[in-house]
Amino acid sequence: MISGSTRLAGLVGYPARYSLSPQLHNAAYDAMGIEIAYLVLPVEPDSLRAAIEGIRTVDAIGLSVTVPHKHAVVSLLDDLDPPARQLDAVNCIHFVDGTAIGYNTDGDGFVRSLREANFEPNGADCVVVGAGGAARAVVEALGRAGAAHVRVLARNHDAAQRTARLAQGRGVVVENLDIGTPDLFVNATPLGMDGESLGTLPPAADRLTDKTTVADLVYSPLVTALLAHAAQLGCTTVGGTGMLLHQAAEQVRIWTGAEPPIDVMRTALERAMRS
Ligand code: NAP
Repeated sequence: MISGSTRLAGLVGYPARYSLSPQLHNAAYDAMGIEIAYLVLPVEPDSLRAAIEGIRTVDAIGLSVTVPHKHAVVSLLDDLDPPARQLDAVNCIHFVDGTAIGYNTDGDGFVRSLREANFEPNGADCVVVGAGGAARAVVEALGRAGAAHVRVLARNHDAAQRTARLAQGRGVVVENLDIGTPDLFVNATPLGMDGESLGTLPPAADRLTDKTTVADLVYSPLVTALLAHAAQLGCTTVGGTGMLLHQAAEQVRIWTGAEPPIDVMRTALERAMRS
């Protein structure tokens, strides 16, 4: 039910119409009995400043932020949560008493998805493949969660170094494909997504053994070539839908101050992915 007291929330991105976030968020507010309506708000890069300034004036509760605005939006906000400051990237804005506060929930969402699969990053030896936005969030969160080592393997050495520096002094760049037997192996590249790269394993994945928990941030297809390979080896596997679900749940937590209904959101996500 939308009434006069319903608050606006939404996703700013471009293009953004494909997003599953409205289904996830609206299912949560419905189940919680909270009057928030979450819409996709397509915003082209040149219009970002005007969009944020406009939304500030309409008593919205918050915004999710996606490609291409995660970095550009930082300079338009009043304050940043520590992970967002470290990453210089925001995927969630909370409007509180006239101020706009930026958060980044991707890393915490990823760590929650690991713990849901009974993997504890504290003390773990981790390998992360990739050095883009998602890899940076994962590396920062693994460092904050107490990982013993976060080893970054990426084809761009400078980006790998910048990413490794986010792991609270426990990040290093992997110089060759000899990764040994890490506790956790994470694909944070698009390798394995629908399309031409389907079937391609990320670098070093062919060296894994069943001692390693294998996580893929790619969530379409649900079972990537990497996850199929890891399952065949007998590894515990963690798919990308867990991070997708939990980064949204963290945003619900920030905006409402209440515990999100994870199972309701998971069902909504599964339904949206099937349709
Ligand atoms: P991004 O910023 O574009 O970074 C992509 C990274 O992958 C870069 O380091 C890039 O290296 C590397 N890469 C791309 N193609 C490669 C290849 N063929 N071989 C080796 N490395 C390659 O993208 P992102 O935002 O980090 O996203 C990465 C993946 O994570 C995407 O598939 C995205 O859908 C997924 N993701 C999932 C979630 C979730 O909730 N599950 C959240 C965020 C992202 P170069 O810089 O050298 O090109």
